[in-house]
Order: sequence, then structure tokens, then C-alpha cells
Amino acid sequence: ERKLELVKKHINSYPDFPKEGILFRDIFSVFNDQTASEVLQELIADHVKSIEKSVDAVIGLESRGFLFGPQIANTLSVPFIPIRKKGKLPGELVRIEYSLEYGKDVIELQKDSLCGKSSVLIVDDLLATGGTMKAACDLIKSCGVDVAECFVIMELSGLGGKSKIPAPFHSLICYD
Ligand code: 5GP
Repeated sequence: ERKLELVKKHINSYPDFPKEGILFRDIFSVFNDQTASEVLQELIADHVKSIEKSVDAVIGLESRGFLFGPQIANTLSVPFIPIRKKGKLPGELVRIEYSLEYGKDVIELQKDSLCGKSSVLIVDDLLATGGTMKAACDLIKSCGVDVAECFVIMELSGLGGKSKIPAPFHSLICYD
């Protein structure tokens, strides 16, 4: 509706960034407009409050998941937990390796962070191939914790990433 259109209008798109053939959707441009930024926060809060399954932590994916995760966690009155790329988090970790278009990557989570948690919400800015979100789901499930929902602001639906996600999935804005 109207609120979504306002936010969408403020997401700038950059052809051939960071490499040729990629149309990069820049979420930071929304924060450059105070009204659009506030409306986006409202839309996010409305959605997360409508989730019926219980959520006892919010997991944010590096790095743009960190722009939304703590806010969502506060809205739901639950803790925020980061999942980061290899080598960024201190302490004892659990990790998972996953395939990229070229090569492999690793994401990590602090071992004790999920203690006492049974169901989490995972958030990122954008779903493309779904590889990152799927790896995050697999990592969390390997710790014996359920994924109540994977939530992104933007989804590139043409890449079919959603079908890879082994959990309920929701996006605010869908690009064909
Ligand atoms: P996937 O693993 O689904 O292929 O890629 C998703 C990850 O790459 C997300 O963490 C997301 O932040 C980043 N990403 C890929 N393409 C874009 C894009 O066009 N815009 C933004 N903001 N992030 C992207």
C-alpha cells in the first residue's frame, strides 16, 4: 500500500554493483529520508507483532541484518543475537560452511547465545539466492532451536531463493 510505496521509492538501485550483471538494492538510502525511515520502522514493527508463533530471540545476519535486528528484538521484548562471517565473533563458536556462486563461506554464532531459547526470528535486509538465510537456518536448527520465521525487507523473487528456506518466510518488498 501507500506506506510500502513510500519506502520502495527511497530504495536506490545500482546496476553492475558490486560486479557486472548485479542490480544492487541499497537499503541505506531509506535511512537518508527521515519519513521513509520511520515508515519502514512502523511496517517492520506491525509485521513482527503479527507473528503468531512464539519468538524468544531475534537473530540478525551480518551486516545489514544488524540495522533491523536490535529494533525488532526491542519491539518483541526479546534478546538480539548476531550471526557473523568467519573470524568476527569472540568466544566459543558454532559454525556452518555454505556454498557461494564462486567458492565457499562460513558463518558463526556464539555457542552460549542460544541457551534456553526454543524458537527464533532471523532477519536480514535482502534475500537473493537464499544461500545465506538457508545456512543460518541450518546452523540454528543444528543447535536444536526452531526457526519461527525468516524475515527480510527485500526479496529478489526471480532468483527463487525462498524455495530453499527450510522455515516460514516473509518479505516486505518483492522485486521480480
Ligand atoms: P543470498 O545469500 O540470498 O544470495 O544473498 C543475500 C545476502 O547478500 C544478504 O546478506 C544481503 O545483504 C546481500 N545482498 C545480495 N544482494 C544484495 C543487494 O542487491 N542489496 C543488498 N542490500 N544486499 C544484497
